[in-house]
Amino acid sequence: MNNILNQLIQLQELNFAKEEQKASNSKMPLEQLEKSIVKIRAQLPPEVADRYDRLQKHYPLAVVPLANGSCSRCGLAVPIAVVNAAKAGDQLQYCPHCGRFLFYPDTVARQPKKKLDSKRPVEVGIARFSAPGLMAPKLAATTHEEVIGELAKLLGDGGFVEDPATVTELALRREAIVSTAVEHGLAFPHVRDVEGGGLTFAVGMKEKGIKFGAHEDHLSKIFFFIVIPTPATAFYLRLLAGLVRTFESTEARKELLDCDTPEQMWKTLVKLTKTTVP
Ligand SMILES: [Zn+2]
Repeated sequence: MNNILNQLIQLQELNFAKEEQKASNSKMPLEQLEKSIVKIRAQLPPEVADRYDRLQKHYPLAVVPLANGSCSRCGLAVPIAVVNAAKAGDQLQYCPHCGRFLFYPDTVARQPKKKLDSKRPVEVGIARFSAPGLMAPKLAATTHEEVIGELAKLLGDGGFVEDPATVTELALRREAIVSTAVEHGLAFPHVRDVEGGGLTFAVGMKEKGIKFGAHEDHLSKIFFFIVIPTPATAFYLRLLAGLVRTFESTEARKELLDCDTPEQMWKTLVKLTKTTVP
């Protein structure tokens, strides 16, 4: 049964990846994604696949984590037997209220110890989601695993996630489904369904470029590592679109890549995204 749940989560991620590609205005072919979607869907028991399709018509998220004994989407309490069964993972569970598939979250990446807005009373634009301490102008990483590990550690050091190792593992699992690299040397590794806190991201750069699974083996140079709480899913797509719109420009990319310190990088990022991430 766990296997079916994993397939459902993968199916949902692939559908998200499709949305992400659309949001990033990517010209990369969707064929490969479509093929993977058809393949995974075909492996599911027919009644599960039908239920998934029906849910998808109403909700972008059809497979959702439990949160404190409730369905994290409709917010209603779920019988304890359902929670326990979801935890045991031996049978597929549904929310008795909204019908979504439920899973017991295995992430502990949550509850930022610090709030992003602790210094300034009202944050606008990109400052709502990141901070100077989350900029890494010169990543030491040489592989995609190391990029994610380094950025997860930054989030951990800043108190934005509790457990960088788990965050890293979940992000790598997501990357294994389909790469988050898009055109222009950009990549958006992420972890979804994080409990608590707000949408937060760290940015790392590697001027030489790293193989991140981009189309035609292009190298990726700017990495936005994003931690996405369940309620921020729709907003995440808007942020992604804004960042891609900013860094489609060669000059904008160069300006950011030329930064040597986290402070300089932060100032540049704030300036460049002023109109694209209002
Ligand atoms: Zn529900």
